[in-house]
Amino acid sequence: MTRRTVIASAIGCLVAATLVATPTSAPARSSGGGSSPSPTAYGSGGAVASVDAEASRVGLEVLRRGGNAADAAVATASALGVTEPYSAGVGGGGYFVYYDARKRKVTTIDGRETAPAGITKDAFVDPATGQPYPFTPQLVSSGVAVGVPGTPATWAAALRRHGTWSLARTLKPSIDLARRGFVVDDTFRSQTLDNQKRFAAFPDTARLFLPGGDAPKVGTRFRNPDLAATLTSLARRGPSAIYSGPVARDIARTVQAPPKDPSSDLPAPKGSLTTADLAAYRVRSAAPTKVSYRGLDVYGMASSSSGGTAVGEALNILEIYRLGSGPALARSLHLYLEASARAFADRNAYVGDPAFVDTPTRTLLSQRFADSRACTIDPAKAATKPVEPGALSRSGRCATGKELEKPDTENVSTTHLSVVDRWGNAASYTLTIEQTGGSAMTVPGRGFLLNNELTDFTAAYDPADPNRIEPGKRPRSSMSPTIVLDRGKVRFVVGSPGGATIITTVLQVLLNRIDLGMSLPQAVAAPRASQRNAATTPAEPAFIEKYGAALEPYGQKLVPSGDAFTSQAEIGAAAAIEVQRGGRLTAVAEPERRGGGTALVVRER
Ligand code: GLU
Repeated sequence: MTRRTVIASAIGCLVAATLVATPTSAPARSSGGGSSPSPTAYGSGGAVASVDAEASRVGLEVLRRGGNAADAAVATASALGVTEPYSAGVGGGGYFVYYDARKRKVTTIDGRETAPAGITKDAFVDPATGQPYPFTPQLVSSGVAVGVPGTPATWAAALRRHGTWSLARTLKPSIDLARRGFVVDDTFRSQTLDNQKRFAAFPDTARLFLPGGDAPKVGTRFRNPDLAATLTSLARRGPSAIYSGPVARDIARTVQAPPKDPSSDLPAPKGSLTTADLAAYRVRSAAPTKVSYRGLDVYGMASSSSGGTAVGEALNILEIYRLGSGPALARSLHLYLEASARAFADRNAYVGDPAFVDTPTRTLLSQRFADSRACTIDPAKAATKPVEPGALSRSGRCATGKELEKPDTENVSTTHLSVVDRWGNAASYTLTIEQTGGSAMTVPGRGFLLNNELTDFTAAYDPADPNRIEPGKRPRSSMSPTIVLDRGKVRFVVGSPGGATIITTVLQVLLNRIDLGMSLPQAVAAPRASQRNAATTPAEPAFIEKYGAALEPYGQKLVPSGDAFTSQAEIGAAAAIEVQRGGRLTAVAEPERRGGGTALVVRER
């Protein structure tokens, strides 16, 4: 440790581990009678928060009928696969973090997609040019980007390990929903329009999502009988309905020969995924990441996601400082941005699928390492970005190593749900098909889109990069489903979509709630900024308006967030639950982002 680190650590010891106890604010909209859509709900007996009213209702109904948090999470997730087919579904993957109240234990399911056995390190290089395929729309709309889905196996594993309901019973509401249809809202229409060109290139996708050549109109009913049939066979046969037999053959065929309109100019390069790859898919059960933060225990997802280590490292760094609102706010936000930059430098340098690369999870989560990172932070001045990754060895100085900086974009793809049940179990589940609309390829006749998750590998092959392409490997994720315990009991359940911004959104929600004096609804609604070790910090316009001037003296350069593809300025779409003394629940979804989500409780207060 350097002198500065020692001083910083000493200051950290002096900081009282207090959790700001703020009163919960009034709901943004009245939640009316039990299951009407509202982003905030207060009560007891169990809660569900997600971005979608129908899906949250499905989860709440499971809780009401005696299902536990795992049953409700799987039911909610499968409903999201129906109503949010561009973000989640059986064609994708995700991470499931679960607190079992009886065992008092947090466990995880890594249901990340895997690269097929036949993938080559130059898979993303166009043989015609010798150059990597342009990312959007060429690479993202291709067979080569499709990983072996992990979601059906995740649902089955979650129920087998933690659930009390069968897969068939849990999927029933989603099957009904797919058959009956849901009412199209602005978000669904605009997400369809954002993808119109890609979707039009694949006739099966166009038939489903662009009926009559246009995105479904707001207020009309969107039905998906093919998906209802797929979910029905999943309910009857279990995951083998997807991983073997006719659906598996259709998935492999779609990847190997993307069913493209011949007149489309998309190259849609084919992938190698086979039925053998599907048959070989297995979920993993990594130990959760854990750090203690101001007296709370924060559990997250270990690699293959970088979420748990990045959120954990940043919290360890932040714990060194006294943070707060009022006059301390600008400095606190500056430190948040600087801590986040370090966490991103380190995850880029060191985190990859642990079955293939040695991911130094323990070191990244250690306070000693966080101290060595904090010693590179000037509490008064932003560092020039990108910053270098930290040294892993004990003798390391403040920072060293070769920066492996990759550009990334923020977006609002993916989806997250948080559930707590009456027994105190909790599920934090983030699932995705990668970008909004995934690969744009619908498996013909099956009603679901395939993911394009393999684009999360580093595109240009570098043998030193832990996230290089390798056969059978899981691409590194940013998904950060998180459960926070307070003396062994659930205090917060939180997560978000948003690609690499997931990490900063989860971090910012925790920071807002724990350090900056906000209630949970305020913490979720507050404007966001996402520093990912880049020269500038993308921030929502409201964040720039509110804090831009105060952060200027620190040298923080904020730029409006936005994805070139969707011109989307929103960062994340969180869903969170807080459990207070006596089992009082505050369930929170987004009030505005992504059209606003829905939080529900079993018994309203
Ligand atoms: N593929 C992303 C990840 O695993 C999630 C998709 C997204 O939110 O953009 O981090």
